[in-house]
Amino acid sequence: MNITAEHQKIVAARVNRERLVDTAKKLIAVPSRTGEAGAVSDQLAEILKADGFTVTREIGNHPTAPAVLVRHESGVPGRCLQFNGHLDVVHLPYVPPSVEGNLLKGSGSCDMKGGVATAIEALRAVRDSGLLKKGGILLCAHDLHEAPWGLGEQLDTLIRAGIHGDAVLLPEPLTDHLPLAGRGSATWKVHVRRPGAPIHEVMRPDEPSVIAAGAELVQRLGKLGEAIKTQTDPVAGTASVFVGQIHSGEIFNQYPQECMLEGTRRWLNVEERADVKASFHGLLADLAKDRGVTVDCEWKHIRDPFRLDLTHPIVAAFQQSYTNMNGKPLKTGPKQFVDDGNAFFGLANLPAITHGPRAGGQHTVNEWIDIDDMVRVATLYAMTALAYLND
Ligand SMILES: [Zn+2]
Repeated sequence: MNITAEHQKIVAARVNRERLVDTAKKLIAVPSRTGEAGAVSDQLAEILKADGFTVTREIGNHPTAPAVLVRHESGVPGRCLQFNGHLDVVHLPYVPPSVEGNLLKGSGSCDMKGGVATAIEALRAVRDSGLLKKGGILLCAHDLHEAPWGLGEQLDTLIRAGIHGDAVLLPEPLTDHLPLAGRGSATWKVHVRRPGAPIHEVMRPDEPSVIAAGAELVQRLGKLGEAIKTQTDPVAGTASVFVGQIHSGEIFNQYPQECMLEGTRRWLNVEERADVKASFHGLLADLAKDRGVTVDCEWKHIRDPFRLDLTHPIVAAFQQSYTNMNGKPLKTGPKQFVDDGNAFFGLANLPAITHGPRAGGQHTVNEWIDIDDMVRVATLYAMTALAYLND
């Protein structure tokens, strides 16, 4: 459907700023560290039920905090647009909700209970506008997003079970550009060990040096980094391997038993996640053999690479609605971080647009979100839904 100024007026009039802020505050008021979002999920389910929506819960392999879902249907078959957000916040001291002028503060206000509340307000606006003629909206809010406490397992389970829309909007705090592509990422933590106990260096046994083996690993990862540098994308960036820390030994004259290294591996969607992991482990096996040490690796897959299909109708619907409100389309750019959009693309080849209210302080105790911009995004989401679904 062609979104007109008249539609925008109708939708904007249905977005209720007070109700929106109230919902966000109620979500922030329930602490929900990653893995512990059960109580806030129940709270959200209550809010939505009180609002007249039919709520279903999906365990998604995480029984202590089943995901919260609402399917709002027009009654006429058509596309399904998903609004998706996470209710968990990083493990930091809890900060209760407060409003200071145009800013809403507190744990998860920015990342991303403010965004979830914004999507809910968009859902209410679509329903109350009476303009939805085809298809429906699936709202999904879940736990286990924030690494390293969660690795997206709950959402992955839902996507694999076919519980998803045909296109997805993610109200994460990204405002200034439309992300088109991003790298996949994994973290790795390696322990290089020799059999003997730590001992004074003058009494050291004829065993390999774990520090020398660790240094050798840094060198070999450097070479790997050089080799994969050829995999590059003008938007997403370049494949990489990164060493963030290395530790070994206690004092200057002790022969240590263990060397620990930790870092990341990022890749483009020309590589398969299984191949990326296998080649990394192959490199470690070679090191173990050459140096006579044991090498263990904890490999954590964070998210797959991401790409947005610009020809998909959701992109046109979003940009048309954005242009209606701002006079021009949103400029495009990279996705520097990974988010749930990577999972939708990686697991089900779905288009996912990350766009949320202006906000900041994510992963700190000083989170904030711009209330005026929550209102803007709620209107934009409602208009995008109408443009995409009624098409
Ligand atoms: Zn987030």
